[in-house]
Amino acid sequence: MLQVDGSTASPERYRRQILLDGWGTETQEKLNKSRVFIAGAGGLGCPVAINLTSAGIGNITICDCDTVDVSNLNRQFLHAEKNIGRDKTASALQVLSQFNSELNYTAINDKISAGNVDDLVADADIILDCLDNFSARYALNECALRKHIPLVHAAVWGMEGRVTFLNPPETPCLACLFPVAPAQEEIPVLGVVTCATGSLQAMEAIQFLSGSRPSLSGEMLIMDYSVMRQQTLEISRNPDCPVCSHL
Ligand SMILES: [Zn+2]
Repeated sequence: MLQVDGSTASPERYRRQILLDGWGTETQEKLNKSRVFIAGAGGLGCPVAINLTSAGIGNITICDCDTVDVSNLNRQFLHAEKNIGRDKTASALQVLSQFNSELNYTAINDKISAGNVDDLVADADIILDCLDNFSARYALNECALRKHIPLVHAAVWGMEGRVTFLNPPETPCLACLFPVAPAQEEIPVLGVVTCATGSLQAMEAIQFLSGSRPSLSGEMLIMDYSVMRQQTLEISRNPDCPVCSHL
């Protein structure tokens, strides 16, 4: 585990977002005190992390078990060529902490599983699911439920990106939406698609942390970037869901 502690926050840095309607220094202080757990430092994790860092989320944990591969570079923009072969979390931490030295960062090089997820997530206020495999996603979903922490789920496939905010019992959980894990495969993906989808995912987290209702609570946004069209589908709980039906 790598840690970097930030210096004192300067309000001037956030002046342009403090000007947002209903925002003010009070909202900014809320963000500065918030804790996020970013699961994955890949295609979605990179835009999520940089957006939450630039918004001034005070305590950022990022977790990944992979090293940087040349095939990551078309979309995972926190990782430079010189970091090929290095742990993704170390590579991400270096960029993020240089970009905003006022925040506290924890980088965990570990594989998320049912056995360690509760310790890894610790006391986060929100979880960002930026993963690419369903066994870790399910572990994260169950941890979110046990700890009553909302989870922002996102996924991409080709030119399509999906985002939803999950916080049972107000919304379904991930197992309601995907009772069976989709087949694991190498998916086609373009950097613009992961970057845009991860940014929408970060927006949902910022909405929640700032005290607003996330727009995608109980809804799934589906963006088709090939034609710049979107759909928002209502999603509902599975009354027989093995994970959340007891709520
Ligand atoms: Zn469920």
